[in-house]
Amino acid sequence: MAKELIQEVRERLSIFIDLYDSIRIVDPIKKEIIGEEGKINTLEFFKNGNNCYDFWQRNSVCRNCASFVAYKNKKSTFKIERYNDEVYLIFALPIEHDDRFYVVELLKKMSTDDFFSDLSSNLAIPLDTTTTTLNHLVNVDELTKVYNRRYFEKQLTKELMYSSIYETDLAVLLLDIDHFKQINDVHGHLMGDEILKQFVEVIKSVLRQDVDWISRYGGEEFVVILKHVDFNHANEVAERIRQSVERYAFKIGDKIQQVTCSIGLSMCYAGNLTLKEILQDADEKLYEAKHRGRNRVVS
Ligand code: GH3
Ligand code: MG
Ligand code: MG
Repeated sequence: MAKELIQEVRERLSIFIDLYDSIRIVDPIKKEIIGEEGKINTLEFFKNGNNCYDFWQRNSVCRNCASFVAYKNKKSTFKIERYNDEVYLIFALPIEHDDRFYVVELLKKMSTDDFFSDLSSNLAIPLDTTTTTLNHLVNVDELTKVYNRRYFEKQLTKELMYSSIYETDLAVLLLDIDHFKQINDVHGHLMGDEILKQFVEVIKSVLRQDVDWISRYGGEEFVVILKHVDFNHANEVAERIRQSVERYAFKIGDKIQQVTCSIGLSMCYAGNLTLKEILQDADEKLYEAKHRGRNRVVS
């Protein structure tokens, strides 16, 4: 029956042959593939007693199972799913055959020569560019173009794990611009924004590219992560950052503004601190730096 059914479906869909790489007929209740044809061979996979959701490397039924949604709503649906490094477009159409309901799934492997259409501007953007753009929007601070707090917390958690596994040390520097409110009050918020951008560039010029990284923690507070450093080296870098900021001629229109910052430095040895603990420690040290007169490093 499966063979006849799939043949019939294939014949009916023959004019759309370029729109898919594989056809599958699915029993949406039992989650069984009852027939398959095409370039993407998932059937081999299912012979070993695997379920359809195992193919997508899930442990249970996909919450967004396209076949089930198509079956339940009795109308076609689609979804985009990632499997290993590939992205698939799955188009699910409910059909009736011998008084039973099935779902025809059309699978198309997306690659860089497939496109997401931006309907608003009629631009076709390659899939990988779209993904990169989305990642960028989610992880990067719009004003200063450095990582945002969301990325910072995710990434530092990973760095702490590596530090624990490989028994390496890292330093967390919490930086806060001194009297920034005054700068805003005197020059206006927009000029304050310009200072923030220049501040980031000064710090980046001190850091090792592709090893250390900076993120905007919020407002005029930034965090710098120095990897594989001991206490003395971390202190030297923090002091170099402080001095570079102090010496830099920040430009506000044709005027020069002096800016200083305070830094709290916390060390993590072989993953001995959690994200919360290390931030709390750095924050206490930053508070002390402010309390002791600002424009200094406390470690
Ligand atoms: P302190 O030396 O104690 O750090 O003093 P401060 O004035 O820098 O500290 P406070 O935290 O009181 O003020 C920070 C100011 O930073 C207040 C807020 O208006 C400003 N700020 C926060 N985010 C931005 C931003 O994106 N752009 C601008 N221009 N200002 C911002
Ligand atoms: Mg602050
Ligand atoms: Mg401040």
